[in-house]
Amino acid sequence: MSKNRETPGDLPLSELVEKADEVIKMGRGFAKVYFEWTCVHCGSRQTFPEANALWMWGICEECGETTSITKGGYTLVLDMPAGGVPREFATMLGIDPNEGIGRG
Ligand SMILES: [Zn+2]
Repeated sequence: MSKNRETPGDLPLSELVEKADEVIKMGRGFAKVYFEWTCVHCGSRQTFPEANALWMWGICEECGETTSITKGGYTLVLDMPAGGVPREFATMLGIDPNEGIGRG
C-alpha cells in the first residue's frame, strides 16, 4: 500500500534535487519521489512519470509545449513497511513513525 504525501511549494532545482536525494537515500526501499513542474505556457501542473527521475526539460501533456525546468516540487510516495518507518526518517518527514500499512 502506498501513501502519497504532497510536499510544499516549488523549490529551485538545486535545492529540490538535494532534498529529494536525501529523502530517497534515507527511505531506500520504501520512499519514491515523483517530480512535478509547472508548464510555463499554459500553467498546468505536470508530473514526470518515472520515480526518482528528473529531467531538465518537460513536455506538457496539456498543450504539448516544452518547458525548461528551473524549479519544481515532488510528490513523495511511501510504500510503508509493516510496523512503520524508521523513526529518524519519520521525524525528517514530519510523519507519525508508527503509521504503518493497513490503517484507515
Ligand atoms: Zn502546457
